[in-house]
Amino acid sequence: MRIARYRFEQDVAYGLVDGEVVREIAGAPFPDVAGIEVTGVERHIDEVDLLAPVLPTKIIAVAKNYHDHAREMGGDVPAEPMIFLKPSTAVIGPEAVIRLPAQSSQVEHEAELAVVVGRLCKDVPKHRVDEVVLGYTCANDVTARDLQAGDGQWGRAKGFDTFCPLGPWIATDVDPDDLGIECEVNEQIRQDGSTSDMVRSVGELVSWISGIMTLVPGDVILTGTPAGVGPLRNGDHVTVTIDGIGTLDNFVSDAGVFS
Ligand code: MG
Repeated sequence: MRIARYRFEQDVAYGLVDGEVVREIAGAPFPDVAGIEVTGVERHIDEVDLLAPVLPTKIIAVAKNYHDHAREMGGDVPAEPMIFLKPSTAVIGPEAVIRLPAQSSQVEHEAELAVVVGRLCKDVPKHRVDEVVLGYTCANDVTARDLQAGDGQWGRAKGFDTFCPLGPWIATDVDPDDLGIECEVNEQIRQDGSTSDMVRSVGELVSWISGIMTLVPGDVILTGTPAGVGPLRNGDHVTVTIDGIGTLDNFVSDAGVFS
């Protein structure tokens, strides 16, 4: 099942994507697919604007969770998972514009598998993580690498508006442990990895993070990026593609929102 969030004229709704048809559902898709009811309203996918498939209250991101990326950053894999938060205001959807902030001269892409939480939960044992996950989507953990290096804390480097593209929809029927994950910039492959290279699995991460903070429906966990991170520049077209999910594509601009 593929669950999108979209705008048609003035209305925003969730819907099930089936080929080129989007079937509107009643309300929101939480906590799980068992409660989903279609309304009978159907749209062609070209008629609607896809939005970020979820509006999280928080985005928890995991650092250095692929062996090859940890090596390219010149560091070892941390002894325990290392996490940081991205603000909800960083979220944008498919085809939206990543804005390069004036404060940075080195903004980079990070293709990531995003976990979408379906259920209010805390202290979830690893073997029950499937019960709290609604599904998976593609993410780009956009990062101001120059600011990350100097700041110590990553709130600024990871937290600018538009620095968390999500989409194109939530796929509910994928096994997250062995998915190809790729990033292209202007149709050139920059990152080409597999979630099987993760240091810690989705199950381990969700369990560990839920031991710290309550997760609420719609919260998003970014599971780290494979090797090959690199710069984004004005005018670039960047895509993140994950097997079994789809392709998230975004544009890059150095023009401010109000310019
Ligand atoms: Mg990242």
